[in-house]
Amino acid sequence: MDIKAPRGTKDLLPPESTLWKEIERSVDETARLFGFEEIRTPLFESVALFKRSVGEATDIVSKEMYLLTDKGGEEMALRPELTASVVRAAIEHNLLSQQGSLSKLYYNAAPMFRYERPQKGRLRQFHQFGVELLGSPHPLADFQVIAFAYALYRNLGFVNFELRLNTLGSKDVRALWRSALVDYLSKYLSELSDESKRRLETNPIRVLDSKNQRDQEIVADAPTILDYLSDDDRQHFETVQTLLTDSGILYRIDPTLVRGLDYYNRTVFELSSSDLGSQDALCGGGRYDELVEQLGGPSTPAVGFAAGVERLVIVLEKLRGEAPKQCIDVYIVLAEKSATKSLIAVAATIKGAGFSAAYDLLDRSVKAQMREADRLGAKFVVMIGADELAEGVVTLKNMSDGSQERIAPYLLASKLQTS
Ligand code: AMP
Repeated sequence: MDIKAPRGTKDLLPPESTLWKEIERSVDETARLFGFEEIRTPLFESVALFKRSVGEATDIVSKEMYLLTDKGGEEMALRPELTASVVRAAIEHNLLSQQGSLSKLYYNAAPMFRYERPQKGRLRQFHQFGVELLGSPHPLADFQVIAFAYALYRNLGFVNFELRLNTLGSKDVRALWRSALVDYLSKYLSELSDESKRRLETNPIRVLDSKNQRDQEIVADAPTILDYLSDDDRQHFETVQTLLTDSGILYRIDPTLVRGLDYYNRTVFELSSSDLGSQDALCGGGRYDELVEQLGGPSTPAVGFAAGVERLVIVLEKLRGEAPKQCIDVYIVLAEKSATKSLIAVAATIKGAGFSAAYDLLDRSVKAQMREADRLGAKFVVMIGADELAEGVVTLKNMSDGSQERIAPYLLASKLQTS
């Protein structure tokens, strides 16, 4: 067949799918420990949602969205990120209607779509988990969101990762800084890369993000937001830092960290890993205190992050080697072909006790069935032959030491549990 998966997408196959399950369980468990509840939203949304939240001038909205017009003539986009959808859902379902109410939501392995140039760790359909904490202006909320991400990577065994932190101040301050930045960068207009020239027009703060070397040299002396912060912004930022320091979370302040989406204010952060190549960002997030109101909801401060599953997998595979193949607990070898009734009963007993069981579906010889047990990494083999049937027992073989014994089928469960 000459039809392949679309460029920038990936089929998830075993054994990698086992690793994904583990990651998903880890995210669920961390969410439980931190008191976040899961939200799932549609894969597509009205285009207007992303234009109004992520920002028309951002790369994501201006260049990377998968757009479709449905048969009713509505303009839709496959979601490129989830914060906008979560906020839309929170407004639509009145999750924020009561004063002082908090919504602590998370999503897990959720597919996102961006028309990007595919490379290692950068796909067109990729998957994110993340959290959105809606309703708290307190630095403790920023801290909790960062601590969530940190705990997750730590628990998965990550060591080579770095947390970078910055603040984008509040709206008025950012406007002042932005115009100082434009004045400064305009002096170097002829030396800036084409991409940065374009950004200077459309979204000047993003010039700080440039990977171009000359751009970076110019940016190094640019006015930083840190010189423009109000007392409140500064106090907020310092409190976040104190909370992180007090809990042993290492970070580096990076005044060039601005993030690619328009809705952020105050704290922004990114976790990156030196075990990744040029696409080294594991996760990124920050505060977005104005977004809920901007999308028509009640004024609601908020903070969150989004993290890429594929990049997490790349690092985990590097740390652990390729994901181990899933092993079966018990392989049942049927030597007496007519005894399918016993076979099914024994399999049900084993599964009922919480152990996985497999048996031959190809009418193979006993020898071939034993080979299959080996291939599946079975910890035990249960043999049902004519002798066993005559005596009302089965033979249980421990594959790690080769020992075997005959036992009554009803004792199988307890035997497996104590082995
Ligand atoms: P962003 O929404 O751009 O802040 O991305 C958050 C995280 O999602 C990044 O740190 C990456 O780990 C991951 N990510 C973003 N874009 C892609 C992509 N095209 N392919 C794979 N992972 C991505």
